[in-house]
Amino acid sequence: MLVVDPWHWLTEDGHFIADNPRLYRRMLRIARFIEYGGELDQREMRETLMECARRPKGKACPGLMWVVKTQKDEILAHCMICRNEEVLIHNWQKTEWAGGMMKPVPVSPDEGVLN
Ligand SMILES: [Zn+2]
Repeated sequence: MLVVDPWHWLTEDGHFIADNPRLYRRMLRIARFIEYGGELDQREMRETLMECARRPKGKACPGLMWVVKTQKDEILAHCMICRNEEVLIHNWQKTEWAGGMMKPVPVSPDEGVLN
């Protein structure tokens, strides 16, 4: 299982490293796990809408990922279908995704939507 400290894949001030597409995609997946799992209490879990990335026997696993908050306050992302434990994330607490989804903001008239 991959163990990730997201700060190794972010800029010093916590942003995505934009000029490395591979790293960006990997970190985006980690950020989504943090957004889903950060607000869980320890020993709680929830299903995400993120597809399992495994391809057992060359066929995409049909599972969706679950995130678990461990007793050490890490976020474990795993698939219940293929039993793959994809990643264990620690030191995520100060990332910008730790508090869950962005809070709603009103549409500003200059956005050009909802005309
Ligand atoms: Zn799977």
